[in-house]
Amino acid sequence: MVNMETIVSLCKRRGFIFPSSDIYGGFASTWDYGPLGAELKRNVKNAWWRAVAQERDDIVGLDAAILMAPQVWVASGHVEQFTDPMVDCKQCQHRFRADQVGERCPDCGGELTEARRFNMMFKTFVGPVEDDAAVAYLRPETAQGIFVNYDNVQTTMRKKLPFGIAQIGKAFRNEITPGNFTFRTREFEQMEIEYFVKPGTDEEWHRRWIDERFDWYTRFGMRRDNLQLREHAPDELAHYARSCYDVEYQFPMGWSELEGIANRTDYDLRKHTEHSNKDLSYFDPETEERYFPYVIEPSGGVDRTVLAFIIDAYHQEQVRKEKRTVLRFHRALAPIKVAVLPLLRNRPELVQKARDLADRLRPDMMTMYDDTASIGRLYRRQDEIGTLFCVTVDVDSLDDDQATIRERDSMEQIRLPLADIPAYLMEQLRW
Ligand code: ATP
Repeated sequence: MVNMETIVSLCKRRGFIFPSSDIYGGFASTWDYGPLGAELKRNVKNAWWRAVAQERDDIVGLDAAILMAPQVWVASGHVEQFTDPMVDCKQCQHRFRADQVGERCPDCGGELTEARRFNMMFKTFVGPVEDDAAVAYLRPETAQGIFVNYDNVQTTMRKKLPFGIAQIGKAFRNEITPGNFTFRTREFEQMEIEYFVKPGTDEEWHRRWIDERFDWYTRFGMRRDNLQLREHAPDELAHYARSCYDVEYQFPMGWSELEGIANRTDYDLRKHTEHSNKDLSYFDPETEERYFPYVIEPSGGVDRTVLAFIIDAYHQEQVRKEKRTVLRFHRALAPIKVAVLPLLRNRPELVQKARDLADRLRPDMMTMYDDTASIGRLYRRQDEIGTLFCVTVDVDSLDDDQATIRERDSMEQIRLPLADIPAYLMEQLRW
């Protein structure tokens, strides 16, 4: 398996992910997505959104604010319970999550303090006065934006149970020990669904969502062997969860969570009803009963998923005695779908033909034009960023108005009339 340094280095060299504030030496496990990373991330989010909000009739989308009334976090239990146990090394003062270290400091072997609870929510002040009344939190999960909008969404969209609300957005956690590249950071993006069901049907829906979400990763090309499901032990469960399964990926540092699928019961809607005095129970028109819906929550991380797709796509192979590095992204995810490459860059008519083709492709797909190196180098560059197709315009193209299309994985080449290339590629890209 590829190691993390190779991935970090490829990501930087090829414009996927840069250290944040790079010119100042970086900043505390924070990362910026470069041009290709930004594309890949958008594609991952679109693949998720399409699977959950577009292809299904029972889920609608939402985009709630990051800042929310502070009472939300009191009601949800986060002010009280969203904590990690923290220990300090008495010798080197380094800080660790108590559940991730043994008896002694992993850095210097020094003695550790007793564990203390550390709340992971970032605090800020709203308005010009920095006093207790102005405190607000950066949301540590997008879920609460969904719960507080449950009634607005249900009534405006006239939804009956079971139905879900999907949301993608930033979340913030003051992690004690971030690391492993973008796997654990303090600012990250989540893709969450809160799926509201009738109590008693929750376990059945939980099982369905576990399968549904596991299959999503393989649908977009992740290798099944690198995925597993793991059930949380009772002492691992979050304060709101009755049971939870993680979809885990075999990262270079070991099996680690991509997504948690939890049964949150009616915990959140009940708590918000108590604290807001707004009744969030549901009137079931079929049985004429009133009850609090149970909630199944598939909650994934965009950044971890992007990282796993990069690692999974990474391949090195030997092609005619040369090493080829290729990112075999699924067609839905590849940042660049087609590169148009003129074989000779000192022939203006040829360059013009290639540029014209690129211009025609651009409205329909992410297209890159490149004439800055020899064709061999250009192919290698495109393979390394996972571009699906390379179209080469050569001297013959000037006579026959055709060009050669090379497919990334098979490296097979076909020749087609320039006029037919956009439609051909569009067909190949359907998913
Ligand atoms: P972990 O056990 O790794 O701390 P968690 O179980 O606390 O994660 P959840 O609260 O279930 O995580 O959050 C849902 C998803 O959000 C996770 O599956 C993960 O993909 C993502 N996520 C959570 N914390 C982080 C983080 N610090 N950096 C990047 N992604 C995160």
